[in-house]
Amino acid sequence: MSVSVFRNYIAGEWVEGSSSVANVSPSDLSDVIGHYAQADAAQTKDAIAAAVNGQLEWQKSGLEQRYAVLMAIGDELIARKDELGRILAREEGKTLAEGAGEVYRSGQFFHYYAAEVLRQMGETADSVRPGVEIETRREPVGVVGIITPWNFPTATGAWKIAPALAFGNAVVWKPANQVPASAWALTEIISRQNLPAGTFNLVMGPGAEVGDVLINSRDINALTFTGSLETGRKVAAATAVNLVKCQLEMGSKNALVVLDDADLDNAVECAVGGAYGGTGQKCTASSRLIVTEGIHDRFVAAVIERMKKLVVGNPLKAGVHIGAVADARQMESNLKYLELAKSEGGKLVYGGEVITEDTEGYYMQPALFTDTTNDMTINREEAFAPIACVIKVKDYAEALATLNDTNFGLTGGICTESLKHATDFKRNAKTGCVMVNLPTAGTDYHVPFGGRKDSSFGPREQGTYAREFYTVVKTTYIRA
Ligand code: NAD
Repeated sequence: MSVSVFRNYIAGEWVEGSSSVANVSPSDLSDVIGHYAQADAAQTKDAIAAAVNGQLEWQKSGLEQRYAVLMAIGDELIARKDELGRILAREEGKTLAEGAGEVYRSGQFFHYYAAEVLRQMGETADSVRPGVEIETRREPVGVVGIITPWNFPTATGAWKIAPALAFGNAVVWKPANQVPASAWALTEIISRQNLPAGTFNLVMGPGAEVGDVLINSRDINALTFTGSLETGRKVAAATAVNLVKCQLEMGSKNALVVLDDADLDNAVECAVGGAYGGTGQKCTASSRLIVTEGIHDRFVAAVIERMKKLVVGNPLKAGVHIGAVADARQMESNLKYLELAKSEGGKLVYGGEVITEDTEGYYMQPALFTDTTNDMTINREEAFAPIACVIKVKDYAEALATLNDTNFGLTGGICTESLKHATDFKRNAKTGCVMVNLPTAGTDYHVPFGGRKDSSFGPREQGTYAREFYTVVKTTYIRA
């Protein structure tokens, strides 16, 4: 019996791939969400060629057409957040509430950039040569290659696709192969909009083949990537050869500092939400909890009590707080990091057990370690797991130094009632985002997002700052 396959979208048509893969839910291995086409190198090149043509048409579109397209995509995502959030939860493993919230947020990205379409401002200047005037304006960068990870299957696509289209660019999108259903669903919405053929293309398939063609193409003008540091380095190296504009958002090893004077209840909520939300599979997760001596024992005891209330289980069930680990490979990696933390001398004070559910899937109890130091591998490498490690420090100065002692720098948080320490922290945390009395995870959609050091490379994403990546500046001299 032949199965129906969700196809790639190229040059305004749904096209078969060279093969297909089954998309299996990590929370129920008997749940096959669908079969999804796999592009090969030739098909990826077709998509790039289609985008080159589509972009020439789309850049001529009127602003009101662009506005209407982006608004309609945002409206539909928001209206269908529960339905699409359920598909997202099934394929990624996050809870229904997290899935619906992500789809809603994705709609907000489209609405934000719809409004941004109408903020078309340039600058004028007098030339140093009398009688000559100058104007600068922003033009589309051209064809944008988009490569996204599995942990935010809809939102990561949305925060890149929306500004790309808003500024008149064409898109070739390669989503992570673990989560094609959310990408396909968003593409299906985009396919019904008033866009010239080729303006938007979806190529599903493996990174080593489809992604490799995108990052090595001279016809891609800008490549935006979110994923691991390891892949990010490959993207940077390949795009540098062709001098293609490149933007990378990668991993992190975020920390939450808890000072003696913190509001304990709030610090516990920040720690538990920030470390274990989304099963710890967030680039903004706080896997390091840096705690000063005076509050350490009370904080650890309260976090354990709070963790006991977390319901881990099938993400589609009501009342579940922590869903499934994304796939077998991630689960294996989580267990490896658990063992590593123990072997390095960390004390497992709660969780870490593999859980059996009614449905066969990848479930683990969130884990808390104490007695860890910042030089342990568990505190240096991103595990992308529901594992948090407490590092005890003497005072604020040591806490800040410990937070900054990492190769990464996406988000950093502090819980304190001290204006002096919060102000110093805001200025001296070497991270792209800083959270005061808030979890490290959870950012807005209308302001810049990104990190420092090995966490990010290139211009910031989101908010008005996205303009830098998705446009190029032209300076024109005019003698009347
Ligand atoms: P990954 O690097 O394995 O994959 C990311 C994407 O790159 C996927 O689409 C993949 O198919 C593609 N890819 C893989 N090899 C490639 C190659 N050789 N050439 C081109 N493309 C290739 O990352 P992942 O496991 O999907 O995602 C988890 C990572 O993403 C974590 O490190 C996490 O911190 C990071 N992340 C960062 C942010 C952020 O904004 N900073 C947000 C979400 C996730």
